[in-house]
Amino acid sequence: MYKGINLMGYRFSTSKCLTICLGLTFIMGCFLASLPIQSDAPALPKPIRHQISSEYRPKKRLAIIVPFRDRFEELLEFVPHMFNFLNKQKIPFDIFIIQQTDSYRFNRASLINVGFLLVKNNCDYIAMHDVDLLPMNNDLSYDYPENGPVHISSPQTHPKYHYDTFIGGILLIKNEHFELVKGMSNNYWGWGLEDDEFYVRLKDAGLKVKRPENISTGPENTFKHIHDKTYRKRDMRKCFNQREVTRRRDRVTGLHDVSYHLLGERKVTIDTLPLTVHNVQLLCDEKLTPWCKCPEPPAKTKPKKT
Ligand code: UDP
Ligand code: MN
Repeated sequence: MYKGINLMGYRFSTSKCLTICLGLTFIMGCFLASLPIQSDAPALPKPIRHQISSEYRPKKRLAIIVPFRDRFEELLEFVPHMFNFLNKQKIPFDIFIIQQTDSYRFNRASLINVGFLLVKNNCDYIAMHDVDLLPMNNDLSYDYPENGPVHISSPQTHPKYHYDTFIGGILLIKNEHFELVKGMSNNYWGWGLEDDEFYVRLKDAGLKVKRPENISTGPENTFKHIHDKTYRKRDMRKCFNQREVTRRRDRVTGLHDVSYHLLGERKVTIDTLPLTVHNVQLLCDEKLTPWCKCPEPPAKTKPKKT
């Protein structure tokens, strides 16, 4: 009996038959593969590669440090104003009031040093900010001062101080730069000159202070200075050798030796807006800076006519 296949009168052996089948399958496969693929289904979207751009950085956090004593009415105006102003710029920020509670003369620079030590782990940069100076021009940017300190209240726009090296009022500085210059001098009790000494620190460290550019407003309308000078008198007394010492650059004191006790931290809201008040008792080495106390000058009495 023949074991092969009988096809249209031809006889094929099983192995021949298998070879022909395989050959035909191969030819058909090649033919089908060469046909262009046509499909009515919509083309699948190309897979998206989620790349983390080197440009992407989360926004830096700002701590507003306000050296403070006995300016409550000003604070009530300052806080809502700053929330409104900085929210427009989408700056993530917190306000810290560093309130001096001892009975020494006001020491703005030491309060800023203490404020920095308290907040530095929760922010990337600080604004040393007078409580009575409200920015009115939305072009004043409070962005992260990456390349060096930015003096917001420039001499061109500050309502009162117009000398070139003035850096008081409002200054932005990143944490690393504030640490680089060892913070501010602790020698300045009473009003003035601590900001000028800080300017020299920045200069000596090679940090150039930038100021906002293309500001169309001037000294009359860039800031609102809510300081009533008859009610809030500046303490301009000079006692002991204060004048002589504070005119010089201080290479000794700063962040590392500011001496204080923390009396407490209070979370407060003004019109539901949150802020933190740190009550700080500054300590004074009266041998080194006896002018932290300044005896009141004796009241002038007219000699009685006899
Ligand atoms: N300051 C304060 N209580 C004082 C003195 C000063 O709170 O008794 C703070 C307050 O933040 C103020 C800043 O220090 O805005 C600067 O002081 P001041 O306004 O007297 O100086 P100015 O820039 O007006 O000469
Ligand atoms: Mn003022």
